[in-house]
Amino acid sequence: MSAFDDVYAGNAKFAKKFGNSGLTGRAARGLAVVTCMDSRIDPLGLLGLKAGDAKILRNAGARVTDDVLRTLVLAVYLLGVERVLVMPHTDCGMTKVTDSDVHGLTQERGVDTRSLEFHTVPDQNEALRHDLLRIRTSPFLPEGMPVAGAIYDVRTGRLAPSLH
Ligand SMILES: [Zn+2]
Repeated sequence: MSAFDDVYAGNAKFAKKFGNSGLTGRAARGLAVVTCMDSRIDPLGLLGLKAGDAKILRNAGARVTDDVLRTLVLAVYLLGVERVLVMPHTDCGMTKVTDSDVHGLTQERGVDTRSLEFHTVPDQNEALRHDLLRIRTSPFLPEGMPVAGAIYDVRTGRLAPSLH
């Protein structure tokens, strides 16, 4: 017994029905989506996409971190991405805590996380505005590349496009 038996069993079922799609690693729809790790989000499903269509970049809070920028550069120049959607969501855990809250919580378990930045989100609109700006003004990404933001509502399944 391992802690992963359930997922290996799930994969065995999946692989039985798997037909090689012949897809390459390029994003067939030219899209990259930056979204949160929240387990309620099915990024492909909610956008009407399927495997092969888009690059999906996920982290806590859908933040445009240095590593997201690094990945977008690779996605654009090597893997066919021509547009980027940044997609945070309602009821996000990252909007409910501050970095110092998190440091406090880990401290209670004897762990010092003060060298980590969690990029918590005190104001979701402001964070999204900032993150879109980071992509749009990146010297490493093509000028004028379409970049949009939209907030996904985890209760209704609807996207609210941002005006930023
Ligand atoms: Zn979230």
